[in-house]
Amino acid sequence: MLDTPNSVEARDTRYHLHSYSNPRRLAETGPLVIERGEGIYVFDTAGRRYLEGVSALWYASLGFSEARLVEAAHRQMQKLPCYHSFGHKVTENAVDLAEMLIAMAPVPMSKVYFCGSGSEGNDTALKALRYFNNALGRPAKKKVIARIRGYHGTTLATASLTGIPRNHTSFDLPMEGILHTDCPLYYRYGQPGESEGTFVDRIVGNLEEMILREGPETIAAFWAEPILGSGGVIVPPAGYYEKVQAVLRKYDILFVVDEVICGFGRLGQMFGSQAFDLNPDMIVIAKALSSGYQPIAALLVNEKVFAGLSAEAEKIGVFGHGFTYSAHPVPTAVAIETLKIYEERDIVGHVRNVAPRFQEGLRRFADNPFVGDVRGMGLIAGLELVKDKSTRENFPPEARAALELEMMCLDEGLVVRAIGDTVAISPPLIITEAQIDELLGCLQRGLARFTTAMR
Ligand code: PLP
Repeated sequence: MLDTPNSVEARDTRYHLHSYSNPRRLAETGPLVIERGEGIYVFDTAGRRYLEGVSALWYASLGFSEARLVEAAHRQMQKLPCYHSFGHKVTENAVDLAEMLIAMAPVPMSKVYFCGSGSEGNDTALKALRYFNNALGRPAKKKVIARIRGYHGTTLATASLTGIPRNHTSFDLPMEGILHTDCPLYYRYGQPGESEGTFVDRIVGNLEEMILREGPETIAAFWAEPILGSGGVIVPPAGYYEKVQAVLRKYDILFVVDEVICGFGRLGQMFGSQAFDLNPDMIVIAKALSSGYQPIAALLVNEKVFAGLSAEAEKIGVFGHGFTYSAHPVPTAVAIETLKIYEERDIVGHVRNVAPRFQEGLRRFADNPFVGDVRGMGLIAGLELVKDKSTRENFPPEARAALELEMMCLDEGLVVRAIGDTVAISPPLIITEAQIDELLGCLQRGLARFTTAMR
């Protein structure tokens, strides 16, 4: 197709810069053009069907053909296609959705701030922290601690929060005042002979040391995804968050929980905060908030944070922050409908019912000589590939092992996502047990080919 000048593939190469791509390599291989969706499947322009095993970008919880979401957008487009919530203006949708989110929040929250992406949500939270500490007369308390392999977005500030080298290198990041502490992945960072409990004590000890080194009076917040998604699907060990939260309380450090992937049922609870007993001061949500059908995200703040924000706005005269598309009536209409569907269909209950088949099925691949670790919870999982199981040595980067497996799975009709040495899987939440078996079958065939190729 690439050699047909007017093909989508050739024009894509000519005009379009993709996110997370290597443009020169892409110009040689050409893109995969996806044309339509049906349930948990998507179809390319040649009519080939793929089970979307990552819900596109972890977001299409209701699959790709939920008519009610399309109708909700259509109805709103006819009534009022665009408006905003700057100053004293608002649409009823924004109010309804804010009320719903406050009612369902995992811990008591006070206000919802709408934005268009997870990056905007995390960026707003970072700005809110500065505002809050200025209100409290603590101008030095502005640094934040995130984690190595955490992912919080790609704006200057949120790429800085993200703890992944490719998001920093040559972008001259991270920005000053954004620090990274240990990644809670025992399989990779546990030391020889170290128990999981000792690992937790060591990395939480390192967090406390960092706080003391920097000065607790300079640390505003700790940032965490309940399960780290784009860093390689990392499930922190038991006891980790309990100990982290004790440290945060000890030094008066706020907790910002990034629920962009974990929120809305992915882990078998409505929020990841419930799965891990987290007590956040701010929560960022996005993605499955609208099942990905419309770009919408939000920052939830508790009363303590809101009191600081409103006091500072009163002093200055205005809360000088706003995105053109904040609280846009179409995405909010779609999000309201999405939340109604989650409740009516008990999507969280469904995830709990089918998750064991998914997790147990995947754990059977631990027998494969190149699968070092299988981890996950609910309907999210990661398979970490290793060259040598006994030493846990990864494949050399030039082997691009996970990417090879991703392409082999694609050939078998399954979309998975290579992240470093890990292959991530997080199918739409509406997946049935029979479709889980289908997913596992495709993955098994992909892995069999991978095993033959790597031997
Ligand atoms: N936070 C998490 C946990 C994410 O996974 C992502 C995106 O994948 C983001 C934030 C950034 O969201 P966006 O890409 O919508 O800016």
